[in-house]
Amino acid sequence: MTFRENANIGSGRARRAGGGGKVAAGGGLGALLVALVVMLLGGDPGQVLGSQEEAAPQAQNVDLAECRTGADANADVDCRMKATMVSLEDYWTAVLPDADPTTAILFSGSVQTQCGSASSAVGPFYCPLDRRIYLDTGFFDQLEGQLGADGGSFSQMYVLAHEYGHHVQNWTGALQYSQQDPRGPESGAVRVELQADCFAGAWAGNATRTEDDEGNPLLQELTREDVESAMSAASAVGDDSIQERVQGQVTPHTWSHGSSEQRMGWFMRGYESGDANRCDTLNAASVDDYEG
Ligand SMILES: [Zn+2]
Repeated sequence: MTFRENANIGSGRARRAGGGGKVAAGGGLGALLVALVVMLLGGDPGQVLGSQEEAAPQAQNVDLAECRTGADANADVDCRMKATMVSLEDYWTAVLPDADPTTAILFSGSVQTQCGSASSAVGPFYCPLDRRIYLDTGFFDQLEGQLGADGGSFSQMYVLAHEYGHHVQNWTGALQYSQQDPRGPESGAVRVELQADCFAGAWAGNATRTEDDEGNPLLQELTREDVESAMSAASAVGDDSIQERVQGQVTPHTWSHGSSEQRMGWFMRGYESGDANRCDTLNAASVDDYEG
C-alpha cells in the first residue's frame, strides 16, 4: 500500500522509545501483568517480560518529527508506522467518536511499559494499562524471514492495525475475554485475536478513504498485491503455522490466536464488508463462521 507523496502525516501518534532499559533475566513479573498483555503471536510473555522495577531507567520517547509526508512513509518504516497511525485514527475516530486514540511506541531491543518490561522477542503487543501499542520494527524482518510473510508494506500495516484493534477492544470491553479464557480453539483469547484481525480488515476496507489533517486522501488505491500481502502476514501468525514450525505438531488446545485460515478469513470478512460491526467473533457460534 502506498501513501500519497504529499500527504501530511505530521499528526500521527507514533514515537520512538529512547535508549531501552535492560530487561532483568527471570524478573518476578506478577501473573496479573503477564495476563494483561495482548500480542500478535502466541507464546508465553512470562518468558520475556521482566518487572518494571528491575529495568534501567529509560530516556524519554522522541517524536518522529522527521516523518512529515507520505513520501517519507513510503521510504522509511518508522514513518510508515506513523502515517498508518494517522489513517487508523481517522478511521476509528469516525466509527467510535467517543473512544480516545492510542499511541504506537516503536522500540529496539527492549522497552518499559506499565505492563512490565518487554524485549523484542515478544513481538508487537498492546498494553491495556497504559493503553499503548509497542512494536519493534525489527519484527518485520522476522515476519518476512522466519514466519514467511511476503514483506510488503501492507503486511506491516496489517500488524499495526491488528494492535490498534486491541485498543478498540480495550474500550469496548471485549479485551477481558482474552484473560478470562486464554487457551483453546474456541477460547475467548482466540475470539479476541480474530476480532482484532477483522478490525484490521475493516480498516483496510476503508483505508483509502482516510484523510490527513487537511482533508486530503492519505493513501493510493489498494492493489491486489496489498491485500495478498496482508493475508500473507495473517497466515504467517496463525497458531497452527507457528506450532508446526516451532514444535513440529499442531496442538489446538493451546491455541490463543486462531489458525492461519481463521485469521485470513476474519481479516477478509472485515475487509470485504468494510464494517467493524461484522466482526462479532465473541458471539459467533463458531470461530469458523467468518463467511457469509
Ligand atoms: Zn493480538
